[in-house]
Amino acid sequence: KKGILIIGAGGVSRVATVKCAMNIDTFEKITLASRTVSKCEDIAKDIKQRVGVDIETASIDADNVPELIKLIEKVNPKIVLNVALPYQDLTIMDACTKAGVDYVDTANYEHPDEAKFEYKEQWARDEQFKNANVMALLGSGFDPGVTGVFCAYAQQNLFDEIHYIDIMDCNAGDHGYAFATNFNPEINLREVSANGRYWEDGKWIETKPLEIRVDHDYPEVGVKPSYLLYHEELESLSKNIKGLKRIRFFMTFGDSYIAHMNCLKNVGMLGIEPVMHKGVEITPIEFLTTLLPDPASLGPRTVGKTNIGCIIEGLKDGVKKRVYIYNICDHQECYKETGAQAVSYTTGVPAMIGTKMLYKGIWKSKGVFNIEEFEAKPFMDELMTQGLPWKILELPVE
Ligand code: NDP
Repeated sequence: KKGILIIGAGGVSRVATVKCAMNIDTFEKITLASRTVSKCEDIAKDIKQRVGVDIETASIDADNVPELIKLIEKVNPKIVLNVALPYQDLTIMDACTKAGVDYVDTANYEHPDEAKFEYKEQWARDEQFKNANVMALLGSGFDPGVTGVFCAYAQQNLFDEIHYIDIMDCNAGDHGYAFATNFNPEINLREVSANGRYWEDGKWIETKPLEIRVDHDYPEVGVKPSYLLYHEELESLSKNIKGLKRIRFFMTFGDSYIAHMNCLKNVGMLGIEPVMHKGVEITPIEFLTTLLPDPASLGPRTVGKTNIGCIIEGLKDGVKKRVYIYNICDHQECYKETGAQAVSYTTGVPAMIGTKMLYKGIWKSKGVFNIEEFEAKPFMDELMTQGLPWKILELPVE
């Protein structure tokens, strides 16, 4: 086995594939496969010009396990990196165990008809991966992904006990449209319009959509309204960070974004059930996705920064301690380097780094794992040199 097979050819894939090409010394050979092969060919052409590396391309329907197995066996890679959509997680995982290769993804499984995401079905494949002698690394994007690595780093190096974690995700980018989503609109709008949820004292507490707001001061970005959302890393971190008392997730949204989203929700445009329109069945949120700007087209027009990080509080040597670990990313700099904006960049770079940890055998095991279950330092070192440098601030304890 040699090289990697990347599945999906959207914004995240573009960044991950460019970054893998920049690390060709590690990855040896790169094959990019997706539903629309022309998108793979565009990325391959761009990479040839930017980095001078040749990428092979292939067409694949990643909902089809036998087709996936055939492709994996033909390419014969060491690892499959799944940067298609969360709907394809289970089929690609099953194909990986059947073909005997490691698996990496950036988002947890979501059932196309249920608007609900959770790790249950991926974790349930632990035995299947163990029996096949391979491993799955789940959630190697930014959030989930780097946020889990920040928490693991804090647990392994900065604290004896961690009690509170707030994950703060700010995108202060401006694309100039009244309304657009900066990654797949269907996934994005489902996430934001759902009820919020956080974990405290062993229990999940549910909130109404966007019910809890804090005005948070993001270093180098400023004060931004931030709303409590449920986010998938809360499920794994609440299990894996021992002694935790509370974990929450906040994301920034501008007033215009929220006004548009509420209006679309009120008129039924976020619906996931098909409706009849002039004798044709359409699903409202899919139709809305067709109308909205393609997230990939936002790259050249987005300016500003993202700041994503974790505020972590706990005890060190019996004394209370609070730190803020974060990364700042500039949309235009990301676009210059990879042809994609910062939301794709902050996901695609860690997807490459996670894959590199497995490829080089730095993280090695059998079964299904979340990212915080491994030694964080080698991943943190890669972040520093691969375009996502981080900082640690000591905060006063309240
Ligand atoms: P895009 O919608 O831009 O790209 C998705 C790609 O997957 C497209 O190329 C699409 O093909 C392809 N695809 C979809 N269905 C299939 C299929 N059945 N078979 C083969 N290929 C398929 O999404 P993004 O690049 O924005 O996101 C990619 C992933 O990253 C998603 O899972 C998303 O949830 C995740 N993500 C994770 C983040 C994190 O921080 N962890 C943040 C942002 C995103 P086609 O071109 O034909 O439509």
